[in-house]
Amino acid sequence: MKETSAYSKRITIAIDGFSGCGKSTLAKDLAKRLNYVFIDSGAMYRGVTLYALEQGLISDKILDQAALINQLDKVDIDFSLNADESGRQHLLLNGRDVEREIRSMEVSNHVSIVAAVSEVRKKLVDLQRNMGANGGVVMDGRDIGSVVFPNAQLKFFVTARPEIRAARRKAELEEKGQYFSLEEITQNLQERDKLDTSRADSPLIQVPDAIVIDTSDHTRESQLEFALSKVRTV
Ligand code: C5P
Repeated sequence: MKETSAYSKRITIAIDGFSGCGKSTLAKDLAKRLNYVFIDSGAMYRGVTLYALEQGLISDKILDQAALINQLDKVDIDFSLNADESGRQHLLLNGRDVEREIRSMEVSNHVSIVAAVSEVRKKLVDLQRNMGANGGVVMDGRDIGSVVFPNAQLKFFVTARPEIRAARRKAELEEKGQYFSLEEITQNLQERDKLDTSRADSPLIQVPDAIVIDTSDHTRESQLEFALSKVRTV
């Protein structure tokens, strides 16, 4: 069932939170119900990270920042026009569909280093603002309510207990045929949490006007219904 009345407004909905809390699931579900565009900003940082890995700009978790900044003009990040059956538009890196590659553990292990580079953030934030310029958008990430769309009409901050986050990430990876221990996944989540909250440029924060949703004990349907009830108040 598509929602109608309130949504003729085509508002901007910002969803932030840590990895594995269910942000993208909620964002996708909301966008589908509202007939909005869903934008996964994390995919864009993952795309630049894949580029850096493929170009040999990262070794032993050390990024050649100057080289990446130099080459940023050559990195074209976009989304495919059509969404797949899960409602996700695939990430295009220089026109190549890299949706599968950007979800690898290799990319997860390096993305927060790349996302800490201000020049990378500036480029992607400009793109994100363009993509969301006409409203009717649900964007998820780390700095959407704080930096990208500080005036978004509705902001959610999604959380979940650590063991639930790790178990979800494990299941997600397994669906894609990638098998890692809970320990490895927990370590990756903890490292990213630390880097994402402590970086100088646009750290992950919970803005005061965000509505908190703890997805640990909620079903997908109940969190969607809760979020929709908030949309109706806008
Ligand atoms: O959402 P996802 O887990 O795919 O994001 C991957 C990484 O991209 C995050 O851990 C973070 O380092 C970075 N990111 C960011 N700002 C965003 C979205 C993602 O720094 N808006």
